[in-house]
Amino acid sequence: MTLALHNTLTRRVEPFAPLAPPRVTLYTCGPTVWNFAHLGNFRTFLFEDLLRRYLEYSGYDVFHIMNLTDVDDRTIKAAAGAGKLLGEHTAPFVQAFFEDRDYLRIKPAHAYPRATESIAAMVRLVERLLERGVAYKGDDGSIYFAIAKFPGYGRLSRLDTRELKVGARVASDEYAKDDPRDFALWKKAEPADEQVGAAWDAPFGRGRPGWHLECSAMSLEQIAKCCGTTTLDIHAGGVDLVFPHHEDEIAQSEAATAQPFARHWLHGEFLNVRGTKMSKRFGNFLTARDLREQGVDAAAVRLLFWQTHYRKALDFTDEALTGAGAGVRRLGEFRARLLGEREKGKGEGEGKLAGLATKFETDFRAALDDDLNAPRACAALFQLVHDGNAALDVGAPGAAVALTVLDRAMEVLDVLPTAKRLDAELRRWIQDRLAARDKARKAKDFKEADRIRAELAARGVEIEDTPSGTKWRLV
Ligand SMILES: [Zn+2]
Repeated sequence: MTLALHNTLTRRVEPFAPLAPPRVTLYTCGPTVWNFAHLGNFRTFLFEDLLRRYLEYSGYDVFHIMNLTDVDDRTIKAAAGAGKLLGEHTAPFVQAFFEDRDYLRIKPAHAYPRATESIAAMVRLVERLLERGVAYKGDDGSIYFAIAKFPGYGRLSRLDTRELKVGARVASDEYAKDDPRDFALWKKAEPADEQVGAAWDAPFGRGRPGWHLECSAMSLEQIAKCCGTTTLDIHAGGVDLVFPHHEDEIAQSEAATAQPFARHWLHGEFLNVRGTKMSKRFGNFLTARDLREQGVDAAAVRLLFWQTHYRKALDFTDEALTGAGAGVRRLGEFRARLLGEREKGKGEGEGKLAGLATKFETDFRAALDDDLNAPRACAALFQLVHDGNAALDVGAPGAAVALTVLDRAMEVLDVLPTAKRLDAELRRWIQDRLAARDKARKAKDFKEADRIRAELAARGVEIEDTPSGTKWRLV
């Protein structure tokens, strides 16, 4: 069986085939760094982490891009409210986002383009859309996208014209546009923007980018740079972004390139906390740092999230989190038993445990190949723990094979308790990264070598090049 993924464009689960295998280009909409990202945002980022890791497990070479929205209505308003410049206000939230990402063991993307550092690409994209006649300057001096000029509009969200009108945000600039559905590509600079340093010069007037434009410009710029293409293999995000954000991204990108923007669209469902939509008003608003401060093991959060399919709403409750915590401890104990057997040299070769592990791996792959069915993959995992413990009780052989298979699955799910995980998996990953960096350095690809160093640093690994080779330590 091969990997099949649900595609929002077709509303079907389809076989996944990238444009230029084994390379897969993956773009995921990143956080708006006006404040701490909440747990609902992290459910989306964790589903994308599962996707990324399973693609890699399946042998793909993933290039993952995640943008940071550091200029938009909310960041400007928050910066003004705090009496700071835009960059001063967003910097600590960018830092916090990376810390939360690392706490939740989310693999770092290969590129984190920031909107404020990608203005040139955005200006070029607007110019192109103006040249092509699909954008125009409104009476208010802002630049708008003319939806009537893009016949494919609405294909992703499948909303009809009437719904699109209702869905379009009613704004005070309504009369500046030719059509109420049209959306701003570039907003004319207002005094409030200037005050926080959120305005840039452009041939079509001083202003700032619209949020939708940011993602189109950054994704197109990044995939052109990394892979020489104008089409993404996968674009992913939360289900709340389908309309208008992703619909608008498609319109802008395809009107500019005349190529499909993304071949596969994946959307993750919402997170509810204790039965209702998360909100400050209901007192159930949670951030990743709340969990970290409460000493919650990230493995438990991950396992809890994997136990609901990404296309189903997930209810985060204290009982479910406690249950997931017990699950990861059981898993940690099972791994420790396998390790003990192997170290005693008893677990070599084939045997009952190896058979169980092989069956598990088949079930695990079949589950994840089926539109990332993580709940089924987890069920197979705990079946292995159950049957494996019984086999260990009677001294069955095959522990070494079982351990290898288990660790391989952990590269995808990554749900071993924090302490247990450190020794085995991280060490192996560090060795792998150091080898890759060594290779890059020998090939004089210092950019790649630096990138790997940053990747290591993001997981707390400090390295030092010495005459006798590269040394590392955890900080
Ligand atoms: Zn986006």
